[in-house]
Order: sequence, then C-alpha cells, then structure tokens
Amino acid sequence: MNAPHPAKALPAIDPARCTGCGRCVGLCPPQVLWLETADPRGWGPKHAVLHDAPGCTGCALCAVHCPFDAIQMVRNCSARPAAEGSR
Ligand code: SF4
Ligand code: SF4
Repeated sequence: MNAPHPAKALPAIDPARCTGCGRCVGLCPPQVLWLETADPRGWGPKHAVLHDAPGCTGCALCAVHCPFDAIQMVRNCSARPAAEGSR
C-alpha cells in the first residue's frame, strides 16, 4: 500500500548496528519494515529492511525507538514538490 504522498525522509538502516530485535518492525504503522537474513536460505543473523519504500510515511517512529541507534532518516529525493525549480 502506498502512502498518499511520498515521504520527505526514509529510514536508512545500518546492518552493522542492527541487532534484529524487531522493535521497529512491530511499531511501524504501515508495516513496511521486516526482518531479513543476508543468507537467502534464512540462516544467520537477521536485520531490519525497508521492503516497501513507497508505503513509508516518513513518521520516523522506527528511528526514534530503535534501541541501538541503527536507523537514520535520510532525505527522500523523489519527494520534491512538483513546483520546485519551475520558475
Ligand atoms: S529496532 Fe533497530 S536494532 Fe531493532 S530491528 Fe529495528 S533497526 Fe534493528
Ligand atoms: S518512518 Fe514510519 S512508516 Fe517509515 S518505516 Fe519508519 S516507522 Fe515505518
């Protein structure tokens, strides 16, 4: 499900800091985060992944509540207003 407008910022998850605790996954309102392993067979440590960027609202709840400071909100370049640069 896509958010009504592109989010101004999207979460960038640092896999080196992410412990796979799942807190962000559980509290993301549109449920656009999930846990993944680097191994396609599902072995090894999990870390959070933004699997549906267009569905992210940019609310930053995930970044604020990550206990390990693994999420930074970064500007979403595709969210520029349509009128920007038009004059
Ligand atoms: S809350 Fe932080 S440490 Fe936990 S899964 Fe999400 S990004 Fe990883
Ligand atoms: S910014 Fe909000 S909507 Fe986007 S992934 Fe984080 S908690 Fe979910």
